[in-house]
Amino acid sequence: MQGYQCHKNLYLSIHQKHLIPPVGPDLQALFDQGNQVTIEARKRFPGGMLVDNPAFDFVGSLKKTRDLLAMHTASIFEAAFEYKGCYARADVITYNQQTQRWSIYEVKSSTKTKDEHLDDVGLQVWIMANAGLPIEKISIMHLNNLCKYPNLDNLFIEDDVTDRLRSLHTKIAPRLNELFKSIRQDDVPVIDIGAHCFEPRECQFTEHCWKQKNIPDVSLFSIPGLREKKWELYSEGFLQIDDVPKDKLNEKQNICLEVLKSGQRHIDKAGVKSEISKWKFPLVFLDFETINPAIPRYIGTGPFTQVPFQFSVHILNSLDSELIHYEYLHTDETDPRPNLIPKLIEACRGEGSVVAYYGQFEAGRIQEMEDFAPEFKEQLEQIRTRIVDPLPIFREHIYDKEFADSYSIKSVGPAILGKNFSYENMLVGEGGAAQRAFEEIISNKTALLRKNELKEALIEYCKKDTLVMVELVKWLYDLV
Ligand code: SF4
Repeated sequence: MQGYQCHKNLYLSIHQKHLIPPVGPDLQALFDQGNQVTIEARKRFPGGMLVDNPAFDFVGSLKKTRDLLAMHTASIFEAAFEYKGCYARADVITYNQQTQRWSIYEVKSSTKTKDEHLDDVGLQVWIMANAGLPIEKISIMHLNNLCKYPNLDNLFIEDDVTDRLRSLHTKIAPRLNELFKSIRQDDVPVIDIGAHCFEPRECQFTEHCWKQKNIPDVSLFSIPGLREKKWELYSEGFLQIDDVPKDKLNEKQNICLEVLKSGQRHIDKAGVKSEISKWKFPLVFLDFETINPAIPRYIGTGPFTQVPFQFSVHILNSLDSELIHYEYLHTDETDPRPNLIPKLIEACRGEGSVVAYYGQFEAGRIQEMEDFAPEFKEQLEQIRTRIVDPLPIFREHIYDKEFADSYSIKSVGPAILGKNFSYENMLVGEGGAAQRAFEEIISNKTALLRKNELKEALIEYCKKDTLVMVELVKWLYDLV
């Protein structure tokens, strides 16, 4: 799949392994999640036999697979196949005694079949078919977003892709020939950076290739909101910030371009004032941390449903009053919502705007909690309808060179308020780390000392999000 994305990607992974970055915690969490989903999928094939040889035991895996195939084993997990230097392992294959053919199931931890899944399973099936496996049907088993815990019977949807793969089948051999030719070259394939570096996923060599191209810290890529247009401009030879043609950018992008060139912050005071004048004191600053497991574990939730397990609330009665703080952190494996909801209602009671950065996220979670706990619907709805959002104010009316191409609080906070408001060097300093910390806290395998350390780190992190919001909003009021 790396080779399908970019020949250089595959070449570097084979010939310059030292450039492969270590697997970070986010990627590891993604692998772990994929493994959990695969194990869950296997439960749908009771009595299945696992080819449990280690990943690089090619000979052993092939031999064990041959033995299980010969016995017409009903279901085999991780069956291995080889054909002319290509090697594949199938998540699940099942044998049909009547037709004497095999069905192939590829498990994916997504809620739909994607184009790259067809490429992936198409290549595997090509290897299996050429290795001599009589194939009846090929399916992708992906997660079903209509499945709701506790009933996991319909957790997977089986998408029969046999017909869709037919048209791909003849293209695979020429594609592989190209790949093999490229990896046998003496030199790294000459391939420029482009949109393909991020599709279907970010390539692991982006840092290396960006460095090779000497992309300056401030460049065409710093202009926010350019999306695909940045690659058009790049391919036309525009990279340095001073060279970017104004007539190719819209009004907002031109404002950002000028800021990036001059370093002078842009502020549209009238725009800020007109937005912020709609807000009402006391201001209630709210931030959630959430968990979204692929395999649902809380009543009424489906795959990847975001469930809040923590909140921080800061209340500002007037611009010069003392801050009042409320917080809640769930710390065991039970459903966080029955405890969290009353505490949230208590913290946000009364009138006044509820300030949430990218507030649609908080609003969405509150709406879901209204469905989960109809007895609190009215109070939750009252909080939700008070939500206001500083993010669009920054996006529409303010731009600082330090934002670069991001208006996230982690980018805007330190740019406006200074380094003390950065999230660097925090044990928990971003949403993914918060999720991993929560999983560790609720696990009975985690030592008490570690749990306590993570609880403190989570409380500090969520509190920081609302505190940064408070200071940003005070800064906005000072402006106008
Ligand atoms: S960063 Fe882009 S050009 Fe470099 S190897 Fe990856 S996909 Fe290819």
